[in-house]
Amino acid sequence: MPSEIVVDCPHCAVRVKAKVNTTITNADHNTYFLAQCPSCHSPLFGYTSPYQDEWGNWVLDTAERLWPTPSVAEIGPAIPEAARCDIRDAQKCISHGIHSAAAVLCGRALERLIKEKVGNHTISKGLVELKAQEVIDQRLFDWAEALRKERNIGAHASDEDTTKENAQDILDFTVAIFDYVYTLSDKYEKYIARKSATSAKTTD
Ligand SMILES: [Zn+2]
Repeated sequence: MPSEIVVDCPHCAVRVKAKVNTTITNADHNTYFLAQCPSCHSPLFGYTSPYQDEWGNWVLDTAERLWPTPSVAEIGPAIPEAARCDIRDAQKCISHGIHSAAAVLCGRALERLIKEKVGNHTISKGLVELKAQEVIDQRLFDWAEALRKERNIGAHASDEDTTKENAQDILDFTVAIFDYVYTLSDKYEKYIARKSATSAKTTD
């Protein structure tokens, strides 16, 4: 059992070497651990996959935190890869305390969504267009507007700072918008296709 593990502490917003209390390894060689942050003493639960180095020694990879708040939120496979990368990087920025960069990355992901769905526009014009074409509804439009404003605070020299709470909210809005536009729409289309296939069969 390793005595220390490298994991991101969400309270300290830094990567820490946490003292491992207990581990459980499953059949797939994933090691689940309960550790304690050396700085704020918070409990941290997560997993890591050990790998063999060039000398055949087992080494632990940087751990993925599962609780509190997973370090990597579930991003649906229907979301385009480039946007997934931006969202993942934004998550990493937040866990390292770089909040303005997280807001800028979320804005970039939103720009990609606009470009793919309604063509080349500024974020502000693109959002109006997304709503006009009913890709998003009023509530998502409002969330996206909040994201756009927060992204501008992060991207430009202003007196205002992106706080940790605002960066986290912006990230949550981004994931929700992408889930709605890609993941759920995808699911709904498949559902409708399945339904019409079954009804076609029953009418035969
Ligand atoms: Zn800590």
